[in-house]
Amino acid sequence: MASAQRMGRYVGVRDRRLAARLSAEDRAEARGLDPFDRLTCRTHRHWVHRCVSSAAHVVVVTGHRWCRDCERPVPVVVDELAGEIRMSCPSCGRFPDSPANRQLLRACRRSLAVARAARNF
Ligand SMILES: [Zn+2]
Ligand SMILES: [Zn+2]
Repeated sequence: MASAQRMGRYVGVRDRRLAARLSAEDRAEARGLDPFDRLTCRTHRHWVHRCVSSAAHVVVVTGHRWCRDCERPVPVVVDELAGEIRMSCPSCGRFPDSPANRQLLRACRRSLAVARAARNF
């Protein structure tokens, strides 16, 4: 099947819209898309708001999901019903404001919006 071949490593992903987005973003990333601007996760094969809580999404070097003041990982709270995504550091209680964390929140919010829109079709 041609479409299955094109999906490559995502043939096992049951949500076909997700699978299509994953392979499209893989191609875009190869052409220069910032991996942190992706709405899908190559590692977990999921929408990024669904797997952002995984430890793999803490990147100390870039500061993604990381509080630089407290030097610790920051959890992402995803409220799918309300469509809200928040981050606050368990140590200082603040949003760890940085370009990296703003980028991460932006990607998660877009990912949530796109995943919800896809479900309504
Ligand atoms: Zn992931
Ligand atoms: Zn902190």
